Amino acid sequence: MKKLVMGLAAASMLFACKTQKNPQATIEKPVLAQLDLVNVENDKVWVTVDPAEFKTESTIFNIPKTVPGTYSEDNYGKFTESFKAIDYKGNELSFEKINDNSYKIEKAANLDKVMYLVNDSFDWEEEGGVYSMAGTNILKDKNFLLNLHGFVGYFDGMTEKKYQLEIVRPEDLVAGTSLTIASTKNSEEGNSKKDVYNLDRYFEVIDNPIMYSKPDTTSFMVENMQVLLSVYSPNEKHSAQTLKPGMEKMIRAQKEFLGDINSTDKYAILVYLSEGEGDASNYGALEHHTSTVVVMPESMDASSLDKSMTDIVSHEFFHIITPLGIHSNEVHYFDYNDPKMSKHLWLYEGVTEYFANLFQVNQGLIDNKEFYKRMNQKITTSKRFDDTVPFTLMSENILTDEYKDSYYNVYLKGALIGMALDIRLRELSGGNMGILDLMKKLNAKYGKDKPFNDDELIPTIVELTYPEIQNFFDQYVTGETPIPYDEFFAKAGIEEQEQMTEVGFFLKGQQPYITANQETMQIVFRGDTEFNTFLKELGIEGGDVIKRANGEEYNVQNVYELIRKSQEWKEGDDFTMTIVRNEEEMQLKAKVSTPMDTQMTLSEVQNADGDKIELRNAWLKG
Ligand SMILES: [Zn+2]
Repeated sequence: MKKLVMGLAAASMLFACKTQKNPQATIEKPVLAQLDLVNVENDKVWVTVDPAEFKTESTIFNIPKTVPGTYSEDNYGKFTESFKAIDYKGNELSFEKINDNSYKIEKAANLDKVMYLVNDSFDWEEEGGVYSMAGTNILKDKNFLLNLHGFVGYFDGMTEKKYQLEIVRPEDLVAGTSLTIASTKNSEEGNSKKDVYNLDRYFEVIDNPIMYSKPDTTSFMVENMQVLLSVYSPNEKHSAQTLKPGMEKMIRAQKEFLGDINSTDKYAILVYLSEGEGDASNYGALEHHTSTVVVMPESMDASSLDKSMTDIVSHEFFHIITPLGIHSNEVHYFDYNDPKMSKHLWLYEGVTEYFANLFQVNQGLIDNKEFYKRMNQKITTSKRFDDTVPFTLMSENILTDEYKDSYYNVYLKGALIGMALDIRLRELSGGNMGILDLMKKLNAKYGKDKPFNDDELIPTIVELTYPEIQNFFDQYVTGETPIPYDEFFAKAGIEEQEQMTEVGFFLKGQQPYITANQETMQIVFRGDTEFNTFLKELGIEGGDVIKRANGEEYNVQNVYELIRKSQEWKEGDDFTMTIVRNEEEMQLKAKVSTPMDTQMTLSEVQNADGDKIELRNAWLKG
C-alpha cells in the first residue's frame, strides 16, 4: 500500500503480498460465499457463507483482524452485525461471540451456513480506523467497493479450501476486477444479475477486490500484459479515459525499467474518487497480486491527480517484485487473526518505494534534480523518527504499541536503505550491479512459491553480492548506526547545500508546519519548527490553532481542502486567517506572498571526478 502524504500525523501505506496456490486440488464442494448487493438494508449488505459439512464437533468462523500489507490491526469483524448460524432445517443455532472477529458454533455437524449484515467502513466515524484503500463502500445502486476481507470470512482450518463467490448485483452496475467472471445469470425478477467467481483458496478471495459501479472502464496492453482501469468518479470529474494516458505511460516505463523480470499477464487498477467529507478520507492505494485499489480525492485537478497516481500506483505495481515475488514465511503463511511479522519491511516496502522513484529518473519521467529532491525529503522527514532503532527490530514488532507509529518510516528510511544499498553495490561492482539486479537474483532463487526464512535473507544477499555488504547490513539495517547519507552521495559526486527555496504554505517538502490535535480535531501550528516567510509575515506563532482561512472553517477532517485551496492562493491577494492563541480568537491579515524557507538541497558537484560521474550514471540511468 501507499498512502498519499498530506503531511499531518504519520500516514501509512500498505502492502498486501502473499502466496502461492495450494497444490492439493481435491474435488470437493467449495465454500459458497454470497453477497446481495440488490437488497441493501440501511447501507448494509447480507453475506452468507456456506461451507461443506464439518467433521469437527465445533467450529469458529472468523472475519480477518489483519490483512497482509496493512501492518495494522483493523478488526474487520466490527463492521458486521446480526450474525446467525443456520442449521440444515433452517433453524438458528446458538453461538458464542468470542471477540470482534470470531464466532464459535458448538454443533458444527448441524451447521448449514452462517449469515450476517456488513456495514461499510466509509460511513463509519473515522472509517473505524481502517485505511480507505483497505476499506469498504456500500452505496446502493451506485457503488460497491468490495475489499472482500471486509465481507467474506472463513472457518478455522478451511482457508485452503476452494471458494465460490456469488454476487447478486443491480443490472446496470459492472464489476471492475482482475478476476474472471465464471458466469453471469439473470435473476428471476429480471432487474438484477448474479456474477459467479471461482477462487482457489481464501487468500484469493481477499487478494481480489472488486468494485461495482456504472461502467467507466478502459484497458490497454503493455507488452503481453493487459491493464484494466476502472474508475468511480461520483461527479464525473475524472474518468477512465482521462486517467488512461498517465497510467499507460507509467506502466510502460515500469516494464521497460524491470526488463526481463516476469510478472502478471493481467493487472487491474480500481480507482475510487472520494467526495471528501463524510466519504473516504485516507488517500493512497493497497496492492494485491494482480490489482490495486486506489482512493483519491475527486476534487484534485487532473494534473495533480496524474502525478499522485504515478507515484502511488507505480509503488503498488512494483510490489510484484517484493513481497509478491520475494518474501518470507511470515508473509507466505499469513495468519489473518494472529499475524507474525517479518523483519524485512526495508525490503517489502522500502525497496518498493525506492523503485517507485528510481524508475522515474531511470526512464526520464523526472530529472536528476527532482529525484535528489525526493530523496532529500525522505531524509528530512525520516529524521523525525528515531534513527538508531534497528530497522529489522522495528519491522518484526510493527504491530506493537511501541513501534506501530514508526510504520510510516518504512517509506522513508526503508527507501533510503534501498538507495544506499544500491549506491554501495554500484561502487563495489564498478557500476555493473545495482539493487534491481540483486532483486532479480533473489527472485530467481526464491520467487512467489518459495518463501525464505527471515534469518537467511541477509546471508543470502551477501552470498549473491559482496562480502562487504554484510557490514552494510550490520551497521545500517540490523544495527543502530544512522546512515551517513552524505558519504553515500559523495561517492556519486553529489553534495548537500543549504538554500532558500520555495516551499508550500503549510508544508516544507513533506514536513508540515502544522499538526493535528486528535482530541479536539483542531489544526495547530507546530511549536518546534521555524515557519516559512509567509507564515512569519502573517504573524503565526507556534501553538496557534487555525479556525478559518479566508472565511472557510477548517479542522483536521478537511485539512486536505485547506492544503489544496492554498495552492490556488495568488501573490498579492488579500488573505485573512482566524486563529486561537491562548484561548483568544484573533484575525491575522497579510498579502499572499510566495512562501520561502531554508532547506538542505542535494546537487551535483561541479567538475566531479570521472569515476563518480560514472557511478552516478550507472546508478540513475543504468
Ligand atoms: Zn507498499
